[in-house]
Amino acid sequence: MSVTNTGWVKIAGLGPGNETMVTAQVQDVVAEATDVVGYIPYVKRIPERPGLTLHATDNRVEIERATHALEMAAAGKRVVVVSSGDPGVFAMASAVFEALEAGDPAWLDLDIQVLPGITAMLAASARIGAPMGHDFAAINLSDNLKPWSLIEKRLRLAGEAGFAMGFYNPRSKSRPHQFGRALEILREACGGETLISFARDVSKPGETITTVTLNEATEEMADMRTVVIVGNADTRRVGRHVYTPRFAKEG
Ligand code: SAH
Repeated sequence: MSVTNTGWVKIAGLGPGNETMVTAQVQDVVAEATDVVGYIPYVKRIPERPGLTLHATDNRVEIERATHALEMAAAGKRVVVVSSGDPGVFAMASAVFEALEAGDPAWLDLDIQVLPGITAMLAASARIGAPMGHDFAAINLSDNLKPWSLIEKRLRLAGEAGFAMGFYNPRSKSRPHQFGRALEILREACGGETLISFARDVSKPGETITTVTLNEATEEMADMRTVVIVGNADTRRVGRHVYTPRFAKEG
């Protein structure tokens, strides 16, 4: 099947939750869309209107969702695939490209675009101060798509290398104790006095931000609505703020 139509797929980030943090670019494509595809809570953020079909699906069906979006675009629809935060950060953009790689070669001619959003780690950093003011790493602590041994290795090496870190999906009901293990590794790799912040529901009603040292941190402080920020050895408090200086000594 050849693709000769005006359909498109825009993979859009909705930001951390507050509607003022959705970019104007994303608002514009949602206004032009015929179809919106995504995980149920994210699709709920899109207002209904005549001519727009909302396709909300459960989590963990990313490839089916992405394939559906590409099929609809190939049939002439204007499809927005929504993610929270940024779509390129542990979200739908890679899933769409995986589906594209595995799918109908004609889809390669489709108009496909990724529209960035404010990722949870950076929204949280802004609320905390500037903990990501120097080099940093973003790590997904879920072992759904990679072995736990790899997560341990990356935590240890990033900590030893002096990166500040942002952790997504830190602790779920199905794996309640892995985060405790992650804290142990971080204490060894970074030292127990390093600052760690727990940012829950950032930019949403009920937002909480708590900063403690790694020695004081416990696994119950994190859940799936929390993004966890760990500083480097130079990360410090200034009044109510936490920041990482822009300079570093030889490691
Ligand atoms: N694409 C998203 C991340 C999806 S993974 C982004 O760029 O932000 C889902 C994880 O993101 C959650 O488990 C949590 O760790 C983090 N997260 C998303 N929104 C958040 C918010 N408003 N406050 C705190 N953490 C959030």
